[in-house]
Amino acid sequence: MAATACKQVLRDLYRILEEGHPTDVRCRQIRSHLDTCSACANRFRELDALALICGRIPPPELSESRKRSLKKRLRASLAVSR
Ligand SMILES: [Zn+2]
Repeated sequence: MAATACKQVLRDLYRILEEGHPTDVRCRQIRSHLDTCSACANRFRELDALALICGRIPPPELSESRKRSLKKRLRASLAVSR
């Protein structure tokens, strides 16, 4: 079922926020998932997270409060899809 892949994508984003360094591999996996999953595409448009994490703004330049609120929302999404 698709939900497993969705959860994996959320976990990857969470890990990237925690570690502070996105990798090309993870970002590419996340992007290719978003191409095929409208649920996640909508979620990330809402979250604004992908543009921040895999886009032009590197996580170290995110403020702590911005990072905290993104992680909180990722955790909430993970809880909902469980
Ligand atoms: Zn998905």
